[in-house]
Amino acid sequence: MNYFIQIFGCQMNISDAQRIAGLFDSQGMSAAAKPEEVDFFVAIMCSVRQMAADRVFGLEQRIKLIKKNNPKAVTILTGCVIESDKKRFEGIFDRILNIKTLGNWPIILDLGPNLAENDYFRILPRHDQDFSSLIPISKGCDNFCSYCVVPYTRGPLVSRPANDILAEVQRAVAGGAKEIWLLGQNVNNYHFGKINFAKLLRAVDSIPGEFWIRFTSPHPKDFNEEAVLAFAQCEKATPYLNLPIQSGDDAILKAMNRPYAVKTYTDLIKKLRAAFKNYRKGLEREIAISTDVIVGFCGETKLQFNNTAKIFREIRYDMAYIAEYSQRPGTAAAKLFDNVPIKEKQRRKKAIDRIVKTTALANNKKYTQKTVEILVDSVKNGYALGKTRSYKTVKFPVSGYPAKPGDIVNVKITKVMAFGLLGKICDEK
Ligand code: SF4
Repeated sequence: MNYFIQIFGCQMNISDAQRIAGLFDSQGMSAAAKPEEVDFFVAIMCSVRQMAADRVFGLEQRIKLIKKNNPKAVTILTGCVIESDKKRFEGIFDRILNIKTLGNWPIILDLGPNLAENDYFRILPRHDQDFSSLIPISKGCDNFCSYCVVPYTRGPLVSRPANDILAEVQRAVAGGAKEIWLLGQNVNNYHFGKINFAKLLRAVDSIPGEFWIRFTSPHPKDFNEEAVLAFAQCEKATPYLNLPIQSGDDAILKAMNRPYAVKTYTDLIKKLRAAFKNYRKGLEREIAISTDVIVGFCGETKLQFNNTAKIFREIRYDMAYIAEYSQRPGTAAAKLFDNVPIKEKQRRKKAIDRIVKTTALANNKKYTQKTVEILVDSVKNGYALGKTRSYKTVKFPVSGYPAKPGDIVNVKITKVMAFGLLGKICDEK
């Protein structure tokens, strides 16, 4: 029997997919090359935005084809599925399963007995790319941001035992991982016994081996001084941070149930930048910062949006994931009036995009003619794509050089753009 897993959304969903694949593999199944010819088709739904949820509807034709090819095929929807989603998707999928019950899927799906270790965290994941490992350190979230379904679909925050996390990191590094992503919906609210996020970061950093540490997604309210210091001092932790701001206006943050003021956020950015200046050398002294922002949230006036634009100019982000607000049924914000017209949301998105393009390009100028380490992601048609430690995408020719995914190579940057760098392989640092 075989299976195909389709992912919508974030790295948490990719991590879920790796654990689902690990579970199916343990049942003697194999991954299918084509989604249309499978025994089990799994779609993992995204958490935050309704537009992402709507994309799941686009699977209807694919599912019809799967059923035509194999009437006995089982189609499953999982991930962040709320009650009102269930009603909409019941007619499309055979099963809607809670990802929290993954350890019980063998019985639920009639595959055989459940695993001896059926705790979600203890299901061994299958890593397709051995050089990059996604390691969940917690699941769920207690924050109830008013636009988000995660606390309803994934439940309260549960932190994983630190020893289990460290063992999984050690296994991944022994298996060739060069990049470790520590994952959690509210990653820096990790706490297990006396181990908080800062202590966990230091413990992962002290694991022997040559690898980079990244983490996502942190909440500004949980980034305390101890975490700022640990992040800057841990040498394997890379100088890149995605720190969601969501809005640059205090009243909108309040309506979003994001419990921090804009000033607290900007002060935190200053602390992070200062810490990296104090503890790092060379290009690492400047941490690259990206963010998530929602434009056109319920009631957002032009003035309030302008506050967000102003903060973006001040912070000078390297990247931003910009979402036009879309109502997600079941959330607190769904009860508010979604009053900003779509065209105005689009205009605001474009305006933020223009600011980020300008600041990102200015930030990237420091890379010109500098030699940087690149972790190669892919190689195609004589070119490699990879990431700097600061999470910048770099493209460079590899003719005559046997670069492959997972290699760390030195590349001299020859041209910079807003969201990418060009370079050539270089032997010297
Ligand atoms: S912090 Fe907010 S946006 Fe992030 S998962 Fe929790 S509720 Fe959702």
